[in-house]
Amino acid sequence: MVEDSIPLYWRTIGHRYRFSGRECPECGSVYFPPRPLCLDCGVKTRGERPVSRVGKVISFSEVHMAQEHREDEVPYIVALIELEDGHRVIGQIVGVPFSRVKTGMKVRYAFRKYGAASDDSVLRYGYKFVPYEYPNVSQEP
Ligand SMILES: [Zn+2]
Repeated sequence: MVEDSIPLYWRTIGHRYRFSGRECPECGSVYFPPRPLCLDCGVKTRGERPVSRVGKVISFSEVHMAQEHREDEVPYIVALIELEDGHRVIGQIVGVPFSRVKTGMKVRYAFRKYGAASDDSVLRYGYKFVPYEYPNVSQEP
């Protein structure tokens, strides 16, 4: 995600910032992460449809080899999350050590910094996941 171009980053802000998918105008299917076309109808999806911000861990792994410009983040945890409304998304889990992450663990959306694509570019933000019981950002020291 960090290596995305700035135009691509701006086009995906809706789903990254507001955690929303796109809806098919024909059948009402909601795609998250967003897809430009409905898989069933083949028509263009549209709008921003909020999806559940709570889910559970289906699978997870600890990453030890970082992408460029993420070297100072390793190790970090990446997981496949199934949201309460059935959507599945891959995201980073923060706020908990790897040893305490479990399959089936309840997690929730958290707005966090992704980093910069290079040392002199803009910082990018989006979603990560924290344990469901994790305190809100405003309560963090
Ligand atoms: Zn459709």
